Formats: sequence, structure tokens, C-alpha cells
Amino acid sequence: MKYTLLIIALALLIAGCRPDIEMYPTGTLDTLGVQWMVIERDNMTYYFQGTGVKAASIYTDLHEEAYDKLEAIFNPTLPRKLRYFVWTDWQQGLQTYNEPDWVGGFALSLQCMCNVRADMNLGHEMTHVMTYWADGVPSNSYSMFINEGVAVAFDLHDNDKMKEAKNAVTQYTLNSITDLWLDSTETAPHELLYPVGGAFMEYMYNNSSRAEYFALLKNQALPDAETIYGKERLRGMISEFEGQLGL
Ligand SMILES: [Zn+2]
Repeated sequence: MKYTLLIIALALLIAGCRPDIEMYPTGTLDTLGVQWMVIERDNMTYYFQGTGVKAASIYTDLHEEAYDKLEAIFNPTLPRKLRYFVWTDWQQGLQTYNEPDWVGGFALSLQCMCNVRADMNLGHEMTHVMTYWADGVPSNSYSMFINEGVAVAFDLHDNDKMKEAKNAVTQYTLNSITDLWLDSTETAPHELLYPVGGAFMEYMYNNSSRAEYFALLKNQALPDAETIYGKERLRGMISEFEGQLGL
């Protein structure tokens, strides 16, 4: 039943699309308790828990295209080709990696590896890996707010990020986005942190130079951002964003 639903979800996702070329599996891989169908493409190596070749062909077309778009933005230097594991039984994937129930995918950036539920949006997980390796510069500091924010901002899902964020702040209490930014214990509700982070990182992309934005990707802690933008300017940006958000 679960399998059938996922196949239907995948079929809906790719409805109306035709594969550029019919891809044939290039092999199989037996790991993590799964016999994966492997499809090697230019940008990524795909591992499917399912066996539908036609759906997998279309899936890889869409993801190759997504990769090209994001690569043009983030200019990543990956130490190895990105491996993309597409789980049909997502519960099994979550259990294998001991991930919480609500996630639809997760990236292991150092290992250049993504694990996703079959209907996960195109860009979120690959953005994690690409921003980690952007410009080939190592990461210096991490904040979940910035890290998830950029992945939401560039998930290639055609929704209004600010609208999603506004919706979230009507349902959860938020005094200032700096509370999310400084939340080192990562206890903020994900239903709040992700959409607000996404809208904020979209705002910052539109209001930063490339050098500033890329510096922020590598130096995500709030004090680091104050150094990049200058305290006064950053305070002004946060205040303008919070005004748009209706805080
Ligand atoms: Zn994420």
C-alpha cells in the first residue's frame, strides 16, 4: 500500500513529462539493506529503491536539470560525484539513519550524499551539499537557521517563501528571527524555523553582493554575519525583514 501510494505520488509529480532519453539502469548496489537500481547520469549517480525504469528516467531528467540550475548559482567544487538515494519505503530510510519522522530528506554534505523520500522537492537536499562546497571554500561556522534557510530558499519549489513564513509566524510565537538564528540547542519548531529561514535567506540573497552571501554561507553564526555585513547594516536588514514578516 505504502509503495503504491509513493508510486502514484511520483507519477503525479512527473505527470505530463516525457524523458529526454530513456535511461537504463547501469547496475545495482546492495547496501543499507536495499538492492538499489543504479542510474548514472552526468551530474549525479542515482540509487532507486523502486524498480520503475520509466519513472526513474523522468525523475533523473528533472534532477539533472535542477542540478544545473543550482550549480550555476553556487559554483560548488565537490570532492566526488553526488550520490542521490531515492527511497520508496521512506520509513526504512529514516530508521536506517535514525532521523526524525517529519524530515523528507537529508544530506550528508561531507560524503556528497543525499537520501530522499521519492516526492521530496527538487532542490533542498542538493542545495545543502552545494552550499557546503560552494566556491570550494571550507565552511567555518554553522547555524541551523541559515543552513536550512538557504536550502528552503533554493528548493526550486514554486511557492511564495514569504507567504509561507508569514503563515508560520501566525501559528508559532516568534519575537525576533535572532532567536532562531541563535538557537544553538535547535529546539525551535521546524514548522517555524524552516519557512522563516527560507524567506530570510531569499531576502538576504536579494539584498547582498555575491561575496557577502557566499561569505554568509560559510560563516553562518550571527557574530560572523555582523562582521560580513557590519553590525548596523545587518541590524537594519533584520529589522526590514521582520517588518515584512509582520513581527
Ligand atoms: Zn534541510
